[in-house]
Amino acid sequence: MWGSLFLKQNKKAPARSSTKYRALAVKSEDGTINRMEDLLNLDVTPYTDKIIAEYIWIGGTGIDVRSKSRTISKPVEHPSELPKWNYDGSSTGQAPGDDSEVILYPQAIFKDPFRGGNNILVICDTYTPQGEPIPTNKRHKAAQIFSDAKVLGEVPWFGIEQEYTLMQQDVNWPLGWPVGGYPGPQGPYYCAAGADKSFGRDISDAHYKACLYAGINISGTNGEVMPGQWEFQVGPSVGIEAGDHIWCARYLLERITEQAGVVLTLDPKPIDGDWNGAGCHTNYSTKSMREEGGFEVIKKAILNLSLRHKEHISAYGEGNERRLTGKHETASIDSFSWGVADRGCSIRVGRDTEKEGKGYLEDRRPASNMDPYVVTGLLAETTLLWEPTLEAEALAAQKLSLNV
Ligand code: ADP
Ligand code: MN
Ligand code: MN
Ligand code: MN
Repeated sequence: MWGSLFLKQNKKAPARSSTKYRALAVKSEDGTINRMEDLLNLDVTPYTDKIIAEYIWIGGTGIDVRSKSRTISKPVEHPSELPKWNYDGSSTGQAPGDDSEVILYPQAIFKDPFRGGNNILVICDTYTPQGEPIPTNKRHKAAQIFSDAKVLGEVPWFGIEQEYTLMQQDVNWPLGWPVGGYPGPQGPYYCAAGADKSFGRDISDAHYKACLYAGINISGTNGEVMPGQWEFQVGPSVGIEAGDHIWCARYLLERITEQAGVVLTLDPKPIDGDWNGAGCHTNYSTKSMREEGGFEVIKKAILNLSLRHKEHISAYGEGNERRLTGKHETASIDSFSWGVADRGCSIRVGRDTEKEGKGYLEDRRPASNMDPYVVTGLLAETTLLWEPTLEAEALAAQKLSLNV
């Protein structure tokens, strides 16, 4: 059996040195030899064409990421080459026990930085066996919006700033904070270096490289104002890709923090009081905003956004009312505001955009636990597909001092 299997595969396996094995054998305290690392790092490509695909989907809370693995007969380049799959939706709060099957449709693939080789991560969305998107499948509607001819023609770009907080395992208290106590007040931590100011840089950096390897359009990282809090940015990415990339980046972060024994939280206000919350600022532009005269188009978009403030807030993440207090670089959840270079506004327009008369806007309202499919889809819908009545528009223009 083994012999014939070996003969069928004409790939040459590189000779492995046994000295290397001896050198790596580590005896643990109970005398067993741990060669787990060898197996985890084993490159199987010389031995088989088969690859491992990690199918990833969003679970029943709308924020939990789940995944399971399967063997695919050969390397693939496009999600359409992959089979649909299924899982037990009754175990993720997404289906009743007596009709538990949820179907996974592969939508985007990334290189797997954990397994290496030709192995892949597969972002999926979720359907009933009859082919209906299940309620937590927010990608489906977003994909519809982004395939609308009007939206396609405007090539919407998104730059998403994902903030997150690292927590010590078991105690539910931020990384670097004394258990049962508090660090010194905010001020020295933002973008800082030093053992007393920066907590979890190895995680942020490992994640950065893992994202680049995977093919995620990550554009940067920074340490945040609250100690133990970090940010990474993805974008500019076009349309539905922004959501796929953020979800894959979140999955990688879950896996890396798992390895580090640190707990990731996307809670928008992990610690009450005088500590910054965690957001997911969404920078947005359309083709017309990026072209000559774009600032006027941005102002019109802001006007539309002001008239749908409530709809946006209700779609921008759970618990966001604890974060959008009007303090800590946020605007109040109850009122809509905009301004140039003002971090206390709902929508900020950068100095450069004002100066050049074109560019992009920053929606500062989304919480760290928002669903990027929902937020990007809604931004495109409100600014490109939805139109207010003329009266509503005139009133809002007056209120916001926007002459459009
Ligand atoms: P902040 O100054 O708010 O901290 P960041 O530098 O963290 O901003 O993030 C800005 C994000 O906006 C980046 O992901 C960047 O790629 C993205 N971005 C830049 N230009 C555009 C644009 N024209 N449209 C949409 N997003 C953009
Ligand atoms: Mn930022
Ligand atoms: Mn930030
Ligand atoms: Mn920002």
